Amino acid sequence: MNLAGRVAIVTGAGRGIGKAIALKLAEMGATVVVNDVGDAEPVEAVAEEIRAMNRQSLTILADVSSSVDVARLVEETTAEFGKVDILINNAGIARDQLLLRMTEDDWDKVLAVNLKSVFLCTKAALRPMIKQRWGRVINLSSVTGLVGNVGQANYTAAKAGIIGFTRTVAKEVASRGITVNAVAPGFIETAMTQKLGEKWGEEFKKRIPLGYPGSPQDVAEAVAFLASEEARYITGQVLGVDGGLAISWA
Ligand code: NAP
Repeated sequence: MNLAGRVAIVTGAGRGIGKAIALKLAEMGATVVVNDVGDAEPVEAVAEEIRAMNRQSLTILADVSSSVDVARLVEETTAEFGKVDILINNAGIARDQLLLRMTEDDWDKVLAVNLKSVFLCTKAALRPMIKQRWGRVINLSSVTGLVGNVGQANYTAAKAGIIGFTRTVAKEVASRGITVNAVAPGFIETAMTQKLGEKWGEEFKKRIPLGYPGSPQDVAEAVAFLASEEARYITGQVLGVDGGLAISWA
């Protein structure tokens, strides 16, 4: 599989799964725009790693829940590299709380960063993809969006929403040579799952049929395949990368 000549945007790529995806796409030959919000240093470090592989890379700090920032993200990418071939909607946050204690702000923020962002980024990136009649959009959903999870009404609503969005947009753009798919990771060891605390972490891990948590690299491998030419006949799908967690969840 080769992504030479392709230009990819990976959102939330300063660490965790997004960083692994950015590095994997670069390893396969792609030029990678590394997006994140906040601290520039880790984001620039990812871009440096990519340049060390003799690939092109640009960091763009932008809040993917802001339409103004997203417009700038896509404009700066096309100004620098002339096109967008691959969009990885990875940025996400969790603000867990039982529904009865969940604040309106917890709901709005999680829906904005996890779901509205997918709408904004996909809409903006589709324009150049439609013109060139080739594109790949890959959205990070979650196993919890399929099966639900106590304390995550906001997060699971967003992740389930991503699945509906993926299937609809896949239908809308299929005739333009663009595929739209989702991956649904299970329990992957990142800063996000570290925040769950030991008790919940152990609960999750016990349920994984393969017996161990996933790594960001496991997710990156699946995303890289969906981004490749070899995956041209796959669209509107949700690919679980979860060690079997979804099939074991009662
Ligand atoms: P993570 O380690 O928390 O990384 C998420 C990244 O997104 C961070 O670098 C974060 O930046 C960035 N981000 C947050 N809000 C943003 C915004 N508004 N605009 C741009 N970037 C933003 O999370 P992860 O575990 O790698 O998760 C990556 C994706 O996979 C998420 O969509 C998550 O929901 C999904 N997922 C993860 C798991 C898992 O087990 N880890 C399972 C299923 C699905 P800051 O550092 O500034 O916050």
